[in-house]
Amino acid sequence: MPKIRVRVDEDLCIGAASCVTIAPETFQLNEDNKAWVLDHGEEPGGSTYERWLEVTEDEKENILLGAQSCPTLAIFIYEEDGTQIFPEM
Ligand code: SF4
Repeated sequence: MPKIRVRVDEDLCIGAASCVTIAPETFQLNEDNKAWVLDHGEEPGGSTYERWLEVTEDEKENILLGAQSCPTLAIFIYEEDGTQIFPEM
């Protein structure tokens, strides 16, 4: 399964929650109204704004859709080799 790194920039996140609506298994709002990154609905190792995830192609697509929905482009997604795949450079 592809491995991706998902990062939310907490300074850019305004708590609009569109990422949560689209990909609730990956994004959840915390008490500060910022999106945390979950691993298939879980928080192994505790809450964090950045996480490596092993995902299926469908899950990867869904996470990408969540990132694309963010009005402030606060979600960054990287391939295993470090290449940033969203936002496109
Ligand atoms: S869509 Fe963007 S601004 Fe809204 S909660 Fe998610 S990361 Fe934050």
